[in-house]
Amino acid sequence: MRHMAHERVPFDVAELVRRNTAGRCFICACLAGDPDYEHVIVAETAMAVAFLNKYPTLFGYVMVAPKTHVEQVTGDFSEAEYLTLQRFIYKIAEGVRRVLTPERVYILSLGSQAANAHVHWHVAPLPKGVPLASQQYHALMHENGVVAASNEEHEAFADALRRAIETVE
Ligand SMILES: [Zn+2]
Repeated sequence: MRHMAHERVPFDVAELVRRNTAGRCFICACLAGDPDYEHVIVAETAMAVAFLNKYPTLFGYVMVAPKTHVEQVTGDFSEAEYLTLQRFIYKIAEGVRRVLTPERVYILSLGSQAANAHVHWHVAPLPKGVPLASQQYHALMHENGVVAASNEEHEAFADALRRAIETVE
């Protein structure tokens, strides 16, 4: 699948902040089947789920979260649980690499108690050819817009990613 630097279109950051501070955990709402918080799920284990970022700043941007509402990136896991989760994240990131062959895959955990408290990991592929000044945090920030890709493109990526994840040992 061709992974070019997608054009970005302006994004309403204030609306996302309102949505994410409205008292509903977006990950728990998604897992409960709330249609307002539906996400495209690409893989899951007994413990965790991987889904497409609904407002991606890079094409192929996946989020990974535990299915239970825990908040501390290390503090709410035993070492064994943490490593099990990281094994899943490895599979997702390798799947992303196999589909898109990006220059790098960024992996981060962000969030806070004010918004997006449910701990999650960002798996964000940086396409080849992005100028240095537009990489890293610049590439990740909603203030710089979201990718202009169609639902069909995201669905095609999700299908390819599901197949690729199966091939990761
Ligand atoms: Zn939650």
